[in-house]
Order: sequence, then structure tokens, then C-alpha cells
Amino acid sequence: MTQRISHWIDGRKTPGTSGRTSPAYNPAIGEQTGTVDLASAAEVNSAVATAVAASRDWRHASLSKRSGVLFAFRELLRERSDELAAIVTAEHGKVLSDAAGEIARGLENVEFAAGVPQLLRGGFSEQASTGVDVYSIRQPLGVVAGITPFNFPVMVPLWMCANAIACGNSFILKPSEKDPSASLFLAQMWKDAGLPDGVFTVIQGDKEAVDALLTHADIAAVSFVGSTPIARYIYETGTAQGKRVQALGGAKNHALVLPDADVDMTADAVVSSAYGSAGERCMALSVAVAVGDVADPLVNAIAARLPKLTIGDGAHPDSDMGPLITAEHRDMVAGYIAAGQEAGATVVVDGRSAVVPSAGFFLGTTLLDYVQPEMTVYTDEIFGPVLCVVRAKTYEEGLALINANEYGNGTAIFTRDGGAARQFQFDVQVGMVGINVPIPVPVAYYSFGGWKASLFGDTHMYGAEGMSFYTRGKVVTSRWPDPATSSVDLGFPRTR
Ligand code: NAD
Repeated sequence: MTQRISHWIDGRKTPGTSGRTSPAYNPAIGEQTGTVDLASAAEVNSAVATAVAASRDWRHASLSKRSGVLFAFRELLRERSDELAAIVTAEHGKVLSDAAGEIARGLENVEFAAGVPQLLRGGFSEQASTGVDVYSIRQPLGVVAGITPFNFPVMVPLWMCANAIACGNSFILKPSEKDPSASLFLAQMWKDAGLPDGVFTVIQGDKEAVDALLTHADIAAVSFVGSTPIARYIYETGTAQGKRVQALGGAKNHALVLPDADVDMTADAVVSSAYGSAGERCMALSVAVAVGDVADPLVNAIAARLPKLTIGDGAHPDSDMGPLITAEHRDMVAGYIAAGQEAGATVVVDGRSAVVPSAGFFLGTTLLDYVQPEMTVYTDEIFGPVLCVVRAKTYEEGLALINANEYGNGTAIFTRDGGAARQFQFDVQVGMVGINVPIPVPVAYYSFGGWKASLFGDTHMYGAEGMSFYTRGKVVTSRWPDPATSSVDLGFPRTR
């Protein structure tokens, strides 16, 4: 008997009526544990109607009322973090500490958004013209949608909904059908925090639901996080419908390791980043570009660390790394390793022969050396526990490789040389840069977003750019009646 995972519409769990479903698994045991409803376009339309109705009232809620709901939600999220982490681990597979980490980073967005009274302050210019004042205000868009990936079933929805709701919008979440349960837990917490019904909606589904959202006239904006081909599709379809769209795509994040880097510290950082969450992070370092003499010691230091990692059920406290999301994905990652080997890369550590639990979608850690830029292990986002080492002779060669890559999500330089690090930060064509920091996910009061094929649209997610994305600016030019200065003037208005 598997658990039925339904929609959340108008403040309550709402079973699907389309007759279409999809399985959700516990990837650590390889068994189906849930059956998620997949919405039809008609179900999406009725959910949007409730969100529209709710948005009419919610935009009237005072800033302090909205802020109060966000504070209450924050408290619930803190109190119930362990329960939520267990839900994430059971469907995604990541270890519990990692699930707790994503909740903590999502929580930061809620804390940021709770400052909405400060964040939505406009500007005011007294006496812009004689007797005339000018001021700016920001207003909600109405109903906005978020379409999210499997790899962060809590954090990524919180990147979006905290800001969107704080700004006075209704928010419709379409989570990944691979790990949909966390979305309903979030929905219940929003309700318990006092958010009016209909302001937060969950539509479970696949392409049919996404397309219905993208083409619905009442959806004003769409935030998307997922793979690059789908991000491009979402951006093109949504903007063609006149919607505001921010669509974050895939990644191939490089570490540039200079000869003066601290090898042990770098190896610790690169291993943590490349293999954490089994490499299923959009900010994972999946390529280490080793410059000059550092290559051999770096490869040895990374290889020495891998056998010490415990691979197992993420719910077990001893596990460092859990399984991959599905059997198909595990097999695809293994296929990339085979292709890399075939193309001439050196397999230093082979995850395919690692001792892992027999049930479940496990794959061990893999380290490939002497990877060349034309190999598919380099060109493609693998999204698994595979680290490629590319050897470069100089800083310039390493930098050119990174800048030539189609993606530009994250990168990190490892060095003791402040001048080199500063030069890298200036030169590199990537949206988020770490200096001796392997996963430079910006804190909530900055904004998250890559460059090139890692982001379609102009606005990064959360932080100040998120507040801007979920609001529309209005400028008011105002003069109060003063009969003494009134006259007809057909000339174009000038400041006086
Ligand atoms: P995905 O693109 O397969 O799915 C993302 C969302 O799109 C899901 O909700 C899914 O249901 C929906 N979707 C899938 N196919 C669709 C289609 N044909 N039409 C319409 N909607 C569709 O991504 P995923 O496998 O869930 O997540 C992993 C990907 O997400 C990786 O590429 C990773 O790099 C990326 N990601 C990027 C960031 C970032 O910030 N740039 C963050 C997390 C994940």
C-alpha cells in the first residue's frame, strides 16, 4: 500500500481527479512508497481560480500582517525541521544532515522575507517640481507560479514562495513529481502559520500541469529551477505568453586549483562539494581544473578521502552519501563513467565497483583524471557522484576552459594568492564565485543565479532581486489642489 500524494488547493489536501499518477520511491530501498496525482489542465485551472480569488484579499493584507505570518511560518519550520528532513530523506535519498541543511538555507529566505516592511519601502522626492511630490511604490503581481526540481524539495520552493507571498501574491507550487511530499508539509505549515487559504497552492503534476500554468492568462510570473532544456522551454513559452519568467537551468561547476593552494584543504572542500548529496546539487563542483604541479598531489589527496566515505541509507546517521534519485538516473551516471573510460580518461576511483547496499539506487564515488574537454563526462551535466579532473598548464588555460563552458552557475578558485583570486573574480564568466569556498550559494540577502545556459531571464532568484521579480513598480506624481497656482498649460510638463 503506497501513500497517496495529492494536491493542496484552497487550504486543504485535494485528491486528483485526472486518473493519471506517477510513482514516488524511497531510493535507499528501491521501493515505491508513494503515488502522486498528476493534475490535468482542468484541475490546474480550478486551482488558479482559487489562487486568484485569494490574491485579491491578500494584496490588501498589511505589511505587518504579512510579516507576522512569515515569522510564524519561520517558527514552525524551525520546530518541525527534523520531521521535514525525514520526509526529504525518505523520498530524495540525501542524508538527514544534508536535508536539515537545505531546510536551514530555505529558512534564511523566510527570515529575509519577514523583513518585507523594510524591503518594500519606496522612494519619496518632496518638491520634485514646485508643489509636486514624486514617490515610488511596489505592488504584487497577483498569482505567480514556481516549478521546482527534485534535488531541493524544500529549499528551492522556499527561495520562491517566501518572497512571493511576502510581496502580497498568491503562489502556486508545482514540485517535482519525484519527491512531492515535502510540498504538502510546507502547505500545512503555511496554513498553521495563519496564511489565508488559497494563497499557497500545490499542484502535483508533470508537463501537462506545467503547460497549463505557462499558458494560463491569470498567472503573471513563473519561477523555474531545473535542467537547462526545460528551463529554456519554460522561458520561451512563458515569455511568449507575456509572463515574467526567471528560469534557472543546469550547471557544470569548475574548481580552479592553483599550484599554491593548500592541497588538504582543497581536497576536503572539493570532495565535500562533488560528492555531497551524491552530486545531485546544481552547485556541486563536478570538474577540478588542476593547474601545473598541483595535479598529482590533488588527485592523490582526493582519492585517499573517497574510501572513507560511508555510502548508505540517508536515514542512517553513519551515512555520508545516499543513493541517486532513480534507478534510471543511477544507470545513466554509470553510463557516463563508462563513456569517459572508453574515451581515454583515467578511472582513479570507480564507483561502479564500490561496495554499496544491494537494494536501492546506489552508486559509489568516482574520480576521473586526464579528462579532455571533448569527452561527454566533461561536456554534459552528469548530476551524480563523479568528479572529473582536467589538467591545465597555466591559470590562463584553466580560466579559458571555464569561460568556454556553456554553463555559468558556480565556480571556485583555490589559492593563497589574493591577487590571483581577485583577478579570477574579475575575469570569470560565472554568476556565483567562491574563493576557497566550494559551494558559494549566496546568503538570502544576496540573490542566486548563474550566467549563460544556467539562467534564462534577467532576474536572479531571492534576495532583493526576488522582491523585485514578484512586484511591479509604480511611480506617483502628486500635486494637491492649490487654486492660486492653477492654470491651463498645453506644453509638455516640465519641472519648475
Ligand atoms: P527537470 O528539468 O527534469 O525538472 C524540473 C521541473 O520541471 C520538475 O517540476 C518537472 O516536473 C518539470 N518538467 C520536467 N520535464 C518537463 C517538461 N518536458 N515540460 C515541462 N515541465 C517539465 O530537473 P530535475 O531533474 O528535477 O532537477 C535537476 C536539474 O535541476 C539539474 O539540471 C540541476 O542542475 C538543476 N538545478 C538547477 C539549479 C539552479 O539553481 N540553477 C538548482 C537546482 C537544480
